[in-house]
Amino acid sequence: MIATSATRLRPASWRSPRTWPDALAVNWRRSMRFRATAITLAATSLAVLVICVIMGLVIRNDLFEARKDEALHNARVAVAQAQRVVDAGVAGDDRATLTNLWNEAQRELGRASSSNLIVGNLAQRIGEGYTPLGFGSLQLTYQQLSNELRTRVQKVPTRQAWQSIALPNGDRPASAGIVVGQMLTIPDVATYDIYIAYDLADADDTLLFVQRTLWLAGLTLIALIGGISWLVLRSVSAPIIEAAETSARLAAGDLGVRLPVHGEDELASLGRSFNAMADSIERQIKELAELSLVQQRFVSDVSHELRTPLTTIRLASEMINDQKDDFDPMTARTVELMHTQVQRFETLLADLLEISRYDAGSVQLEVEATSLAQLAEEIVDQMRPLAQAHDTELRMVAPGGYSPVDMDPRRVRRVLRNLVGNAIEHGEGRPVVVTVDSNQYAVAVGVRDFGLGMRPEDAEHVFDRFWRADPSRKRTIGGTGLGLSIALGDAQLHGGTLQVWSQLGVGSNFVLTVPRSGGEITGQGPVPLEPEEALVDLGTLTQPIRLGGDGAGDEQGEDRR
Ligand code: ADP
Repeated sequence: MIATSATRLRPASWRSPRTWPDALAVNWRRSMRFRATAITLAATSLAVLVICVIMGLVIRNDLFEARKDEALHNARVAVAQAQRVVDAGVAGDDRATLTNLWNEAQRELGRASSSNLIVGNLAQRIGEGYTPLGFGSLQLTYQQLSNELRTRVQKVPTRQAWQSIALPNGDRPASAGIVVGQMLTIPDVATYDIYIAYDLADADDTLLFVQRTLWLAGLTLIALIGGISWLVLRSVSAPIIEAAETSARLAAGDLGVRLPVHGEDELASLGRSFNAMADSIERQIKELAELSLVQQRFVSDVSHELRTPLTTIRLASEMINDQKDDFDPMTARTVELMHTQVQRFETLLADLLEISRYDAGSVQLEVEATSLAQLAEEIVDQMRPLAQAHDTELRMVAPGGYSPVDMDPRRVRRVLRNLVGNAIEHGEGRPVVVTVDSNQYAVAVGVRDFGLGMRPEDAEHVFDRFWRADPSRKRTIGGTGLGLSIALGDAQLHGGTLQVWSQLGVGSNFVLTVPRSGGEITGQGPVPLEPEEALVDLGTLTQPIRLGGDGAGDEQGEDRR
């Protein structure tokens, strides 16, 4: 079963400002809720910014237009009133009368206009007699007005003209204002251009207030939308996160997990579909497990049932085989063939029984303190006749691995017999090197050949049951295809490993590593999996090392611990 991580993807910590950039990046990648809220907030902020700026400009414009219209109207009314005064007055050349009339007109201007910033300038004399001069105020003088405005006013006497102006405000910054100009005529005496300035500071205050309110409303809106989207997303994403965690647990093998289903919305339908899928997976896995149990039992039962008749057949075949010399050559050859095949059949049956014991979990280790180096030497000696039959030189190198380690010697022997047998069979007559060594944590034995080797994709399957690299390969020893699968089971039963390195045309290296009692295999094992030396480099380095009861262990030195 594939193990899948069922850990929840927790958002990163925001505790220290230094970790914020990381936390931002991690949250952006891992949290759908964070990402969606961030996008919503960014989009809302942009929208609010654009709306506030546009509204601010529009309001400012409207406010100015309204104040301008007001000023124009007020100036028009004031000048018209003053004009009415001068028109109704008795003009003439009399200096005093004219001065009075002119003063009256000025007073009327002040009364009728809402501003007291008024400037009057003598534009043109009409008569020959006395002509009253212009007037001004402290805050507004004729010189402050631009030539352009003065020209526009004087050019078309019937029309008003205006311009924006900065009005001095004592020590404080000048305030914005508007000045309106219009002509006034004292019949038969002179024409005057009259200017009335209006302070727009109050409009500025209104604008500032409106803008401040707008920004405040905008920020409140952003906060509200952010909060609402966080809440909405939480209600949507919580079931999704739960579904993700539950499916991870299901994938990790917890077949009983289900999603809680509430209501009838889309998420509830997702939950129902998920639960239905989980039910179906659980049912099928249970069926498969039962089927596999039935199969295991069948293989075990059949193997058991076959054992007795096969033993009888083997004994009979051995008896007949012993007398084959009395038969004619044709019958003798048939008897020989039958004998070999019966032997193979028996080996296969034994392997099948062993495999079924593994499947049933009924395999027990019978451990005893064993010297792996001694055991390997024993196997090498046992296999020598087979090696000689294949013209293969068996070499043994054992820099360590002498001191006893707890293991089941019967099983380790079986593993080694299989590895050395395979190496001889696929070794193409080149030397086979058996290396034993140890370290602090484990003892290991490597069986290296320089023969056919395998492609990497084949080496991956080497421990599969009944798997063979190339079915067309010549088989001389007659294995069952179960040897390495049993060997792996034996290694794992010891808490150890059996690993393979192989290259097509270069050779193979199988390494069995067994941990010392209570130990655990960590880091590189005592015998490296990937062999360092090529066949040409072997030289005499790997000459057979004789072990025996003559204190060879001491000669070889202590285990490297
Ligand atoms: P068997 O040897 O009975 O076929 P094993 O399980 O021992 O079964 O091996 C499975 C297959 O792995 C072999 O058939 C062979 O194709 C391949 N194999 C095993 N050892 C070697 C080796 N040293 N070199 C090349 N191929 C090997």
